[in-house]
Amino acid sequence: MISVAEHDESPRAPDPLVSVVMPLYNEAAVLRTLTGLVEEALQSCRCRYEIVYVNDGSRDESEDLLDEIARENPHVRVVHFSRNFGHQAAVQAGLMFAAGDAIVVMDSDLQDDPAAIPRFLERWREGYDVVYAVRFNRKENLAKRSLFYAFYRVLNAISDTPIPHDAGNFGLIDRRAAEHVVRMYDRDRFYPGLRRWVGFRQIGVPVERLARHDDQPRVTLRQLGRLAKSAVFSFSSFPLTMFYAIAAVSLLACAGLCGFTLYHKLFTGLAIPGWTSMTIAASFFGALNALGIGILGEYVIRIYDQVRARPLFIVQREVNFALRDAEAIGAADVGNALRD
Ligand code: UDP
Ligand code: MG
Repeated sequence: MISVAEHDESPRAPDPLVSVVMPLYNEAAVLRTLTGLVEEALQSCRCRYEIVYVNDGSRDESEDLLDEIARENPHVRVVHFSRNFGHQAAVQAGLMFAAGDAIVVMDSDLQDDPAAIPRFLERWREGYDVVYAVRFNRKENLAKRSLFYAFYRVLNAISDTPIPHDAGNFGLIDRRAAEHVVRMYDRDRFYPGLRRWVGFRQIGVPVERLARHDDQPRVTLRQLGRLAKSAVFSFSSFPLTMFYAIAAVSLLACAGLCGFTLYHKLFTGLAIPGWTSMTIAASFFGALNALGIGILGEYVIRIYDQVRARPLFIVQREVNFALRDAEAIGAADVGNALRD
């Protein structure tokens, strides 16, 4: 019998390369400070590192300043977009250009505290593949804070793969998991959802959300709304399920109305001519519409699934397949020896 020899993942490299990916749009005012803080955090980590800025079509001095910083500092790499493509696209580009064994994604507006990076790396060295910041003590105004609070809770409740509360982009992802995220073709991207979707060992670490360096968020409320829609429609089929609920309620209402109107038509004579047939027809076709939308939605969601072609599964590790391969090679050697 073949003994079970677990082919576990290789332990973390003793001297890993860590990439810090930072998308930015018009953040010239803080780029030098930010680079200094990130380097300071990385230097305490016993690792090699690179800082990957993704300039998402900034219109301020960010472009020239980044080139200047990169000339002075060989750890800094910069990707300049041809125009503004949005935060999520910039995160994707950062993951694609990063070469690290572990990749940290963070904002460039000083809201994500670089001092959390060594804590992420500690967890990664313990064997976690995804270490995400669970944000607390947000400094945004009450309305925005409440929106974020409600959004994460609603999303978690309705998502097919529950997405942790208060976990945004900030966090570390192991290269292997990052490669799976990069290979997901979703055009409508919500990075925290994709990161959750790929699985592997994940853990949250509480990190205080700092204040923005200025009072002008670069992601507008409209863009935030679009992102929330991406999150809901990419990770939940709940909106579709609602139509079944609407159809069920409408059918019940239809049955009730049929009974009510027919009773008056047949027994009390209180029914105005045309009222019974109108009410029955309207409620019946209303229910039929909701049911039809639900059924159409089932097809649409399947087409959507097929088109974005997410993998059916992702393997974390394999056990004993190496033994089988070794045996096959051994058998081939014996065969060759016999022939010789
Ligand atoms: N950002 C970007 N492209 C955009 C808008 C924003 O790369 O079109 C960057 C921005 O410079 C910052 C990060 O994305 O580093 C988060 O933006 P913001 O602070 O406006 O978002 P919030 O913190 O309010 O969610
Ligand atoms: Mg911000």
